[in-house]
This record gives sequence, C-alpha cells and structure tokens, in this order.
Amino acid sequence: MMRRRNGTIGRNRRIANSPIGRNRGIARSTKGSTITIAIAIAVVLLPLLLRCGSRDERPSIVLVTLDTTRADFLGCYGDSVAETPVIDAFARGGIRYDRAFCHAPLTVPSHATMLTGRYPRSTGVMRNSDTIPADEPHIAEILANAGYETAAFTSVKILSERAGFGRGFTTFDMPESTRSRPGEETVAAALAWLEARDAQTPCLLWVHLFDPHFPYRGTEGLAHYERAAYYDGPLREGNWNEIERAAETGWNETEHERLLTLYRSMIAYSDRWIGALFDGLRSAGRWENADVYFVTDHGEAFGEGTYLEHANAIHPAVTRIGLIRKPAAQSRSEAGGTVVSAIQGAIDLAPTMLRGCGIEPPDAMEGRMLYSSTAEAPADRAVIIEEPPLPESAALRIADRNALFFPRPDGATAAPPRTSGERLAVARGEGFFLFDGVGGEALLSMPGGARRSGPGAAIGDLIPYRKALLDWRKAHPLPDGTDTGDLDPETRRLLESLGYL
Ligand SMILES: [Zn+2]
Repeated sequence: MMRRRNGTIGRNRRIANSPIGRNRGIARSTKGSTITIAIAIAVVLLPLLLRCGSRDERPSIVLVTLDTTRADFLGCYGDSVAETPVIDAFARGGIRYDRAFCHAPLTVPSHATMLTGRYPRSTGVMRNSDTIPADEPHIAEILANAGYETAAFTSVKILSERAGFGRGFTTFDMPESTRSRPGEETVAAALAWLEARDAQTPCLLWVHLFDPHFPYRGTEGLAHYERAAYYDGPLREGNWNEIERAAETGWNETEHERLLTLYRSMIAYSDRWIGALFDGLRSAGRWENADVYFVTDHGEAFGEGTYLEHANAIHPAVTRIGLIRKPAAQSRSEAGGTVVSAIQGAIDLAPTMLRGCGIEPPDAMEGRMLYSSTAEAPADRAVIIEEPPLPESAALRIADRNALFFPRPDGATAAPPRTSGERLAVARGEGFFLFDGVGGEALLSMPGGARRSGPGAAIGDLIPYRKALLDWRKAHPLPDGTDTGDLDPETRRLLESLGYL
C-alpha cells in the first residue's frame, strides 16, 4: 500500500497555460474597446506570460538521495570492488564532490538540511523524531510557487509529510504499511508518475532509496551477494541478533568481511534501481534539461573510530557523503568528469537547486553553492557536523554494543554516545576536527590517517578549526530541550523498529 496525495498547487499552471497567444492576436488586429480590453488582459497576464515563457526553459530538478551510503564504498570514490556502474557513469558525466559532508549522521536531520538549506540546529530538526517547522524554507514549496510540478517518493516512513517533508509536494508517496520499502517499488512509483506527466513542464522530483540501511539483507542476483553466499558463519542477514551472537563467539575478519559484503550488495542493488530511474528520465525526455543530483544522507561505520552504524558517529567515514551533480544541458560547460575537492556540505544543495532554476535562495538558507570547480570555491570554507543527541535507551544500547566490539580494560567505551551537551566536528580543507563538549578532547583526522591531540593540546594546525567552530557556535547556540522528550506511541514504535531507540 502506498499513500498518495494530490494537492491543488498544480492548478495555477493551467491558468498559466491559457491561450495567451490568441489575446495578442486580437490586440494586433482590432481597434478601440477591443484594444483596451486586450491591454487590460495583457497587464493581467503579463507576469504569467513571462513566467510561462521562461518556465519552459527552466530545468527540472531531480534529487536522488541514497541512505546510509559511504562515499568510499562507491566505485567513483575509489572503491575498487564496488558494483556501482550507474553512479560511476553518472560521476563521469557530471561533477563529483570529493570532500562533501552531511551535518548530522541521521536520516531525518540530514534530509531536512538538504531541503531547507539550513543546519539541523537552526531548524531544530536534530533527531529522527523531529518535524521541519512550517516557517522554515523548503525547496518544494518555493519551486511549487514558481510553477514547478513537485513530487516526492521516499522509502522509509520517517521521511513523511507528517515530519514536514511533504510541504510543497503535490504528490508525496511513501510506504504505508511497512517501515520501509525496497528501491524497486519506490522507483516504479516515481516512473509511473513521470510517465503521466508532460515533459514540457519543469518538475522537482525527489526519490529516496533506503536499501543500504542496516540490517543489510543481501540481494540475490548480484555478484556481491552471490560471493557472500559461500560464507558459512552466523551472519545470514546482518541483523543485530546475528552480529551480537557472532561477536560473543569471536568476531573475526571473516565476519567483518561478510558484513561489508552484505552492505555492498545493498549499495549495488540501489545502483541498479537508480539506473532504472535515470533510464526512465531519458525515455521521458527529461534527462537533458534536468539538473540531476545524487547524494547520500550519511555513511556507515564498521569499526572506524570505534563506531558501528551511524547515529552517533561524527567520524569522517560516516559524515563524508557521496555527492554528484549533472547540471542541466543549457548551464553545462564541459562539466563531465570534473572532481571538486573543496569542502561542500549537504546544506549547499537547496540554494544550488534554486539558483539552477533562476531563483535567488531566501536569506534564511545557510548553504552556499555547489561549485563547478575547486578553483571557484573558497579555500577556507568550513562546514559543521553535529552529533545528534540520543535518547538514554539508545545511548545505553550503543554503549553495550561498543563494549562488545571494542572492549577496554576499564569497561568504558571510547566514545560514549551523546545524550546531552554537544559534540561537533569541523570539516575544513584536508582536515576533520572533533570537538567533544563533554570530554573536551580534540581529534584531527587527516586523509590517509588520523592523529589525536589530548585535552588542551596546543597544535597550531588546530587553530583555524577551533576558530571556525567557535564562530559557528556563537551564531548557533545550543537550543533548549535537546533531550528526546515524550514521543507519541506511533513515532516511538517506528523509531524502535528502525533500531534508533
Ligand atoms: Zn539515513
């Protein structure tokens, strides 16, 4: 069962499509009162005429968001065993952002940032149970008001109209009876919508796929899964019961590889269905004049920084995201195969999408631009990543899990999950700086390795990171009430089923 809503935003376009040309003909061929009437009509219709005239040339926006996918598990980001031919080919034809980051490693906050162009702390959407406030900017609402057709197809119930994602979308399609749905179903729904549309009207189409999210079920018919089938250990699907059992009896390299293989197979599965979506856009005549974005909402940890999964992991492995753009044909200038190594954030998506449509982003949007080259981008750019505050129950569960995988003599975990206070990171240039408001530690990760500075360590390299962080904190004070508060029973059940509580 899928839920669909067809609103009334699109009706204005039918007014804009009225036979304006005929009115102009009347004005040319008659005199007197007819001319007066024609002028009056022209005055009324001029804005619509201008909108109509420019609308046909404006690009469509296609936003594909892939959940839980680490950039470095995609072929185009250097994974030699990835099965991601579609995403890799897309990167070869577009602009790939090599140092792009999310701003919270959690599905709802990360997607809210993409659609609003605002930091999680600015919108207050810091947890999966939060709702985008109605007064926040939202690209779908802005584009719908500008005459775009708008449709969203999400694969997990936490990305819902109820959570504020539906604002501005004339069609909002999400799983109804299950917590999530496979990419095949989501893409099929999106393609059915596309087929019923007039390719001349620009659209905003958002398609979200969830498959690489834990548990990594594996997918038949893909090489990774078939290789994994030879495995004879306890990990059949990669769910937590199996993982904990395996860890208790001795987690080893074979189990670890098995887990990675299952995860990779789900990325490969998603790649296949993104390919079906791209093919559908081409056959619908939508591809050339579409500004197409592929982005992952966060990555996933498999032990890096003593993290597993993603919810509390502000580590480069988890917060670096895959981000690729194919500009629409008319604004494309030899973009194919470009790699931008400047720092970018998911926060830059919304303003870039709007500018691509000739719309100046609202002042409230905090993102900048997805630059077309490294040289264009400011070298001193820093983006902030924030660890979402977790409910006590989730923090305890993660602490137990960390103790199982990363035992320490004192029984403590290396990175206790955040339930209060703040834990932030700064991505700037080649570095990644971690500020732990609880422990006061700083960690600087560099590509190809990491080095840690102890509390109070004065390393000159850290100064620009600390400055960027302090400037940001001054502009973004921690809001009150970062505890999880009371959840309604439905939200609680949903979050529990996704493993977040
Ligand atoms: Zn996610």
